[in-house]
Amino acid sequence: MKALLLIRYGEIGLKGKNRKFFENKLTANIKRSLLGIAECRIQQYRGRNFVEVLEGDTAAVIRRLQQVFGIVSLSPVAIAELDIESIKAVAARELGKVAKPGMTFKVETKRANKRFPLRSPEVSRDVGEYLLDHVPGLTVDVHHPDQVLDVEIRDHETYIYTQRIPGPGGLPVGASGKGLLLISGGIDSPVAGWMTMKRGVTLEALHFHSFPFTSERAKEKVVDLTRVLTGYGGKILLHVAHFTEIQKELRLKCPEKLTVTLMRRMMFRIAERLAEQRGALALITGESLGQVASQTMESIHVIEHVTTIPVFRPLIGMDKEEIVNISRRIDTYDISIRPYEDCCTVFLPEFPVTRPRLADVEEAEKALDIEALVTESLEKTETIEIRGQV
Ligand code: ATP
Ligand code: MG
Repeated sequence: MKALLLIRYGEIGLKGKNRKFFENKLTANIKRSLLGIAECRIQQYRGRNFVEVLEGDTAAVIRRLQQVFGIVSLSPVAIAELDIESIKAVAARELGKVAKPGMTFKVETKRANKRFPLRSPEVSRDVGEYLLDHVPGLTVDVHHPDQVLDVEIRDHETYIYTQRIPGPGGLPVGASGKGLLLISGGIDSPVAGWMTMKRGVTLEALHFHSFPFTSERAKEKVVDLTRVLTGYGGKILLHVAHFTEIQKELRLKCPEKLTVTLMRRMMFRIAERLAEQRGALALITGESLGQVASQTMESIHVIEHVTTIPVFRPLIGMDKEEIVNISRRIDTYDISIRPYEDCCTVFLPEFPVTRPRLADVEEAEKALDIEALVTESLEKTETIEIRGQV
């Protein structure tokens, strides 16, 4: 089916001379998101994109576009000729589709084509009167209408629309540089990844796997979570690092109550090294203040002490319920609650310290050959390219 969709983008229009760059990123992301589901043509016109669906399922196109960051809203557009009678007829048909008895409405006209003989207020008035006569049960309310009917008079045709479907907002993925997401199989880290993608960040992901203490299924879960994230921004490289040797060493050589802190310091060291190799400018985690023992301010302080790279924690101020709500909305929740173990839970001590002291932790680490452990883990890292489901 042929259809035309108007796409609005907000924030990226404000970026001064970067505007072209942002627009091009958005257009490229729109194109990529539609690959394989529909044949589309994209035009840029005065700060907006129009997607013309030439062949394929328009509802599926709309669902995909609702996952493209940078899109604020979209409207399916009906086309009328450059002629007031044609405009009235199409307007009546379109408003008829959404009209309910007792509804108030208003017509808003933009006349981009100044050669059109009627001015905008005249068009609004004529079309409004026609609609009152031809769509039953409506009244006009110019201040707080239930429904706006937009008429946009362009050079070769007139666009008419009644719907504004919300998009995800944010900035186009690829507009902000690359970040490395520390992804577990839990609820939080995929949400953290989604939130940074929303701000234009291209993701690579790093997962620590403790085979055979954690199963292939646990890894699969992370692959599936990453695949859901690709739906919002294209392919993601998932690095799976071996953590088993490190955990064995920690258990053998360090006080058990410090295990969580030490483990996480090792994760951060490895992640920072990988980020350097991959050109990522920040690490991203799903930590939320006070949620568990390793997420007290003291823990975060001691853990982050091993790195200099910025660490983004987009969930830091969120309650679990808020995080769960987002994870349901972005379709990671059902995967996250699959009951497979994570490397952190396998080796969880009975009484972890909630307020580790830096001096104690550094003392405990003297028993380890940290450089060798980091290097070995990186050498054994497997990289999987995850592409979206088409
Ligand atoms: P999540 O729901 O994301 O697992 P969590 O509430 O279970 O978070 P922790 O297990 O303390 O919290 O992990 C905190 C953060 O550390 C995670 O959000 C994630 O970014 C990172 N992390 C934890 N385990 C792993 C892992 N096995 N591989 C990579 N990153 C991890
Ligand atoms: Mg976890």
